[in-house]
Formats: sequence, C-alpha cells, structure tokens
Amino acid sequence: MIEIVFAGRSNVGKSTLFSNLFGVRVRSGRKPGTTLKPNFVTYKDLIVTDLPGFGYVSGVGRDFNEKIKDFVVKYIEENSDRIVLAVHVVDGKSFLEIAERWESRGYIPVEVEMFEFLNEVCQRVFLAVNKMDKVDDRDEILDAIAEKLGMIPPWTRWRNVIFPISAKKGKIENLRNAIKERLVEIGRGDLIPVLK
Ligand code: GDP
Repeated sequence: MIEIVFAGRSNVGKSTLFSNLFGVRVRSGRKPGTTLKPNFVTYKDLIVTDLPGFGYVSGVGRDFNEKIKDFVVKYIEENSDRIVLAVHVVDGKSFLEIAERWESRGYIPVEVEMFEFLNEVCQRVFLAVNKMDKVDDRDEILDAIAEKLGMIPPWTRWRNVIFPISAKKGKIENLRNAIKERLVEIGRGDLIPVLK
C-alpha cells in the first residue's frame, strides 16, 4: 500500500479541500474536533487519509485535544514507510495570529511543531495555505508563514512546497497538479484518477 495523508488544525478547511480534491464528502454535519476516526479514500493500492483536526477547539476539552494530536503523530509514525506525501493544511487568514499568540505564552505553536515533525518523518511534505480568498496582503502573509515554518522568504522560492489555495472557491489547481506530479514522480501516474 502507499498513502497520502492530510493533516491540519480543526477548521482550516481540510474537509472542504478533501471533498474538492477527491469528490467525497467527509465529516458532514459532525462537530469538528470531536472524533479520532480518520476518513479514507482508497483507489487501487493507494489510501488517502484525512486525519482528525488537531489544535485547540473551543468546547472540546484540553485532554481530548492532546489525544487528537498524539493520535495524529502516532498514526504518521506508524505508517511513515508507506506515506509518499503529507499535505499540511493551514488557514492563511488566522495562522500567524494563532502562532504568535502561542509564542507569546512561551509555547511552540502546534502547527510549527507538526510541520517540523512531518518533514522529519515523511518523504515529501506540502503546505496548503487555505482561505486565501480572505487574505489581502497575500505575498506578505505567505512570506511570514514561510518564515515561521523555517523556510527563508520570499515564499516564491518554495513554490514546490507552499500552495496558496481557496478550497471553498475551488481554487486548488496548483495543489492538485503538484499531487499529480508527485504520483508521477514515484512512478504511479496510474493513481491520478483518484483525484476528481
Ligand atoms: P476542517 O475542520 O478543517 O475540516 O474545516 P471545514 O472544511 O469544515 O471548514 C471550516 C470552515 O471554513 C467552513 O465554514 C468552511 O466553509 C470554511 N472554509 C473552508 N475553506 C475555505 C476557503 O477556502 N475560504 C473561506 N473563506 N472559507 C473556507
């Protein structure tokens, strides 16, 4: 088996993106961040996994939030041999504000930690910066996000890693093409039809 995983905080638009890319509706109507169960799409020997959203969701206990993060980390560690791509989805509109809030309290933001972890464990990691339709100063925001995640700006130097998208508006062509290219790169162009 080979696997592609999607990870991200709750509410970044991961389910919306997943539906747009694979034509399936996941987690519809369920409260975000309240389940540990990942959603899967399978095609031939490929599994595409929508991991539960981690991070601090209001209305969900701190312990449960920690449990979700631990689950995601453990899942990725256990399956790292077959994971050919990890897509880390972030919210371009709120990423910096949330990261800076945690930094000011002396913590490493969970998304920074997760991105580092993914890069240590997975062969290839993409950063999907979603909700770009809500962002005005696009390049400035993308540069700052890149820098927070250890990539020296300008972000345009990282076009093979950073994909600004808007899942809600269906503007995901750059990411979709990069996923296709990754499949071709590993000699599995036959799996491209998994994408809608
Ligand atoms: P998840 O918790 O990460 O799976 O997030 P959802 O896919 O459930 O989306 C959370 C909220 O963000 C919903 O209200 C979506 O309509 C909204 N959303 C998702 N993608 C976008 C986007 O590209 N732009 C905007 N403005 N909103 C989005």
